Amino acid sequence: MSRVFHRHLKASYPTAVAGDGPYLIDAAGKRYLDACGGAAVSCLGHSDPEVQAAISEQVKRMAYAHSSFFTSEPMEALADFLVDRAPQGIGSVYFVSGGSEAVEAALKMARQYFLEIGQPERTQVIARRQSYHGNTLGALATGGNAWRRRPFEPLLADTTHVSPCYAYRGQRADESAEAYGERLAVELEDTIERLGPRRVMAFVAEPVVGATLGAVPAVPGYFRRVREICDRHGILLILDEVMCGMGRTGSLFACEQEGVSPDLLTVAKGLGGGYQPIGATLASARIRDTIAEGTGFFQHGHTYIGHATACAAALAVQRAVEKRGLLEQVRARGEALRARLEQRFGDHPHVGDIRGRGLFLGLELVADRASKEPFDPDRRLNAAVKAAAMDQGLMCYPAGGTLDGRRGDHVLLAPPYIVEEDHLDEIVDKLDAALQQALGQVGH
Ligand code: PMP
Repeated sequence: MSRVFHRHLKASYPTAVAGDGPYLIDAAGKRYLDACGGAAVSCLGHSDPEVQAAISEQVKRMAYAHSSFFTSEPMEALADFLVDRAPQGIGSVYFVSGGSEAVEAALKMARQYFLEIGQPERTQVIARRQSYHGNTLGALATGGNAWRRRPFEPLLADTTHVSPCYAYRGQRADESAEAYGERLAVELEDTIERLGPRRVMAFVAEPVVGATLGAVPAVPGYFRRVREICDRHGILLILDEVMCGMGRTGSLFACEQEGVSPDLLTVAKGLGGGYQPIGATLASARIRDTIAEGTGFFQHGHTYIGHATACAAALAVQRAVEKRGLLEQVRARGEALRARLEQRFGDHPHVGDIRGRGLFLGLELVADRASKEPFDPDRRLNAAVKAAAMDQGLMCYPAGGTLDGRRGDHVLLAPPYIVEEDHLDEIVDKLDAALQQALGQVGH
């Protein structure tokens, strides 16, 4: 029996031993095409020689120096790289080890900012239902994903949740996309009024929803209205791009496509591409300067913040993405994959919606296309699809959560940016076979 405290203690896992471009290889030599980048992490695949060399060089020179004693060259260079390309107003970067830590840091920066400017009554966070912002208690409290929260609810800080922007289920048949976005904006503003505008600290949202809904972008204009409302009430806008950022949707930051700049922006997965654990909270110059001129100290921190080897890896990943023109590739291959998905599954009786942006695409599986009735969550179709895909040698991510908070069945695809056309064919063929197998297992 394994001594590892695995995620699923009743499951057994193949042992991954090697990477080869977009494939992972297990101890038995079986190859798995990584069509989801793990969880939208592995943007450069699993064997990039430039990143491997950058890590090795950094480890040989100096693996790590504690951030309360030193800064480091890779940390400074990565901050310059990111701020030079970040949305307007962003002025500095706080480096952590992953997405949950990035969200925690954003929440605490927001809190400290309001303490510094003499608004201590701002403690309320508004986020959206069916959202996921991480598993640490602060990030979990922010998320609105009912089944992830439920066991821990007594430990979670109070957060108010509003409707997600989820056109497939939320937009009424007689309503335009603009009217739908406006209705959600009104709901947000009403919620702020109800809580008391001077008690609200931040609104938190993912520009393209990943883990819960499976690659759902907002309707046009929604985020611009959200930005206006936050500004009107002096509320900070925290955009969580842990999953959808760092090129995944075809622009370095997903919010560029919304024409909106947040006050705080979290990134992780694609930042280091899985070569090292790293995340970051990008903060506006205003927030950074306020804390710098006030207390002068952000009252937070972890042992591994700004880890030199992690920063060197992320810098190599980001330089590779830029130098090799991979954002254009994300857009082109994303369109090609979407076209193939539409061709193969557009009329499928159990594929209700195909959506997403760039190489961040989702399929929503439904029992009935006309009524959009989801499958019985107890059948765990998305888990069956994941298992069947693994049998086929394909990794796809089983996102889950419907509008009413029940578990739904979504397949999230987020392959590495280096995929070629023939990999796209392999993804669609294997997904088709996995879907057939899984639907058979759950009796459809
Ligand atoms: N925010 C979002 C939007 C995420 O998708 C995730 C991870 N799926 C997190 C935060 C948490 O990141 P991590 O698992 O690296 O802590």
